[in-house]
Amino acid sequence: MNGQEEKKRQLVADGLKSIWFPFTQMQEFTPDDVLIIAEGKGVFLRDVDGRDYIDGVSSLWTNVHGHRKEQIDRAIREQLNRVAHSTLLGLAHEPAIVCARKLLEIVPKGLTRVFYSESGSTAVEIALKMAFQYQQQAAGGDPRKIRFMSLTNAYHGDTLGSVSAGGIDLFHATYRELLFPTVKAAAPYCYRCPFGASYPGCRFDCLSQLENLLAAHAHELAALIIEPLVQGAAGILVQPPGYLKRVRELCTRYGVLMIADEVAVGFGKTGRMFACEHEDVAPDILALGKGLSGGYLPLAATVATEEIYKGFLARFDEFKTFFHGHTYTGNPLACAAAIANLDVFAEERVIEGSGEKIERLTQGLTPIASLNHVGEVRQRGFMVGIELVADRETKALYPPAERIGHKVILEARKRGLIIRPLGDVIVLMPPLCITTEEIDRLCEITYESIRAVA
Ligand code: PLP
Repeated sequence: MNGQEEKKRQLVADGLKSIWFPFTQMQEFTPDDVLIIAEGKGVFLRDVDGRDYIDGVSSLWTNVHGHRKEQIDRAIREQLNRVAHSTLLGLAHEPAIVCARKLLEIVPKGLTRVFYSESGSTAVEIALKMAFQYQQQAAGGDPRKIRFMSLTNAYHGDTLGSVSAGGIDLFHATYRELLFPTVKAAAPYCYRCPFGASYPGCRFDCLSQLENLLAAHAHELAALIIEPLVQGAAGILVQPPGYLKRVRELCTRYGVLMIADEVAVGFGKTGRMFACEHEDVAPDILALGKGLSGGYLPLAATVATEEIYKGFLARFDEFKTFFHGHTYTGNPLACAAAIANLDVFAEERVIEGSGEKIERLTQGLTPIASLNHVGEVRQRGFMVGIELVADRETKALYPPAERIGHKVILEARKRGLIIRPLGDVIVLMPPLCITTEEIDRLCEITYESIRAVA
């Protein structure tokens, strides 16, 4: 073993001895699973051995313009020469102000106030607290409205509030005693329709159920929270056209606030800057994270309407303040990265240029859809879910112990592609800067990797 190999072996051993990895069954996490990333450039990540991989899920759905994007690197360095951190609790700084102004220029209409935090989970947590407190204390609120409605399968984060709002059964079973109850409507999962119907041609039973639940619970619902257009971590479940718009109409009709969780779908992933734009929907509260800083630094934002904001205005001793704020809320380095990220979107006309890439991705996915164990390929913009099944006829799942999704990603690694599955759904979500040639390669490797194990 040469010096470099020995150093790597030691790193892997130290990593496994010292780090408790997130969302990872450590007992089964072996040295073979540990891939040590040393650097990145554009759409590629490079490991300590100097092997390049396409970053097929944009470093957990965050990276937008590629790694080491010059403008973002420079913005962070320049900010570093001024100050790395200063609090937003009682003080302000220019990057937070400029970033908020720029964000407000592009978010759906009616949203006027930016509340910063550090992760998608906190953005959601804040949205829930905001909606709840608004109902408790605002002139337009109703203190009986203390509950939330959401969709089955939804993932809104891993903190207690966001898990409560979410609909992942496994997490609810594990943490049940710590969670608050919510009203759940069935997600529009057309491939496995919970109402036994098939789209198109169905009667939208999912929307009828959602409306019935809203009608029955409106008096106690502070808000409905939904991922617009695509339920990401649920398995890239793409909502049928018109679904989101109808949900917005129903929320308005029944007097329930609408929280749009665009943590996953925001910043160009669906082909528009925000997914709500596809159906001309304006939520009452918008949760943003992941791509906000271009995939560079932890930054999130919860953006509210003026009506909601005003519900918190009062004399100090009326105690209507929004009681929230973390140490690193609105960190200047992260805000500087976000400003540069938004500038690149505008300067390089990223959204305008994405149509051709999305089309190429659709073409590249076509052969994958006919593989023996591919039940369905779902795509919206740059977001792709490939659902693997043991049997295409019956749609039978693989036994969980088979870990088929995991096997596919290990094959992909061997071929120079980093992806991460959601159970048996293989997810592709490349950075928006990916070229058409790189898209072809991404699809080819995915095809070969699935064929190798399924
Ligand atoms: N909301 C959605 C829709 C997400 O997809 C995620 C993460 O995947 C979150 C919230 C939580 O974000 P974070 O992991 O940054 O806390």
